[in-house]
Amino acid sequence: MVNTSVAREMDIAAQIAANVVADGTHLLWQGPQDQYKGPLLRVDRKKKVAVRGELWRAAGRDIPPGLVLRGICDRDECVAVAHSRLCVRTFGRPAASFDWYLKRLVPDGDCLIFPAKSNRVYLDGRKMPISRAVWEHAHGPAPTGWMVCHRCDRQHCGRLDHLYLALPGQRIRDSFDRQRFPLGEQVSQAKLTWAAVEHIRSSTETRETLARLYRVSPTTIYKVRTWKTWRTKPADDLPPEE
Ligand SMILES: [Zn+2]
Ligand SMILES: [Zn+2]
Repeated sequence: MVNTSVAREMDIAAQIAANVVADGTHLLWQGPQDQYKGPLLRVDRKKKVAVRGELWRAAGRDIPPGLVLRGICDRDECVAVAHSRLCVRTFGRPAASFDWYLKRLVPDGDCLIFPAKSNRVYLDGRKMPISRAVWEHAHGPAPTGWMVCHRCDRQHCGRLDHLYLALPGQRIRDSFDRQRFPLGEQVSQAKLTWAAVEHIRSSTETRETLARLYRVSPTTIYKVRTWKTWRTKPADDLPPEE
């Protein structure tokens, strides 16, 4: 009688053997990779196994709790036991390298999009947006406080020439310039219209009279008159008024 778990292990070993190619001392995995677990074998619909760990255990070694296996050679896809090492979770080369992420960017229009739900990538033991990873790879670490921003406004874009460095205040101003935020009448709670604002600014009536006329507070009138609010009219023209 065949022991099912033994049969299953032999099956996994056979599948791994069918998907690796030796290259010198490297053993290169041809199948899919996971950004955290590295080379990954899909056994069936639910179960996936980390290839590096399977080979490690097949060589008679074990993985103590708290430690992870990481590749130590320069090939992401290499799963050779001799090129793997047990590490504390936060040390050693993570499963994915910068090039690994770069290869996965998908062209979409002008942009190169990182095809995942989150735009975060895991590099050098820390999580960062793909934009920062790409920018810092090209220019070195960004100065403290500066942010890597997108000209194209797409958080998942990793195209270098769509990225620029800005201080947080500058980033907000740029977003205004690109009309990322609602302005004036586009604000859903807006009580005034641009026509009303022009009237208020040109009118010689008192604050209180105008406040009653437009059903807003005198403070609102004051803020409109002193240009504290309703400062930026959106570039695209407003629909003609009836
Ligand atoms: Zn290797
Ligand atoms: Zn872009």
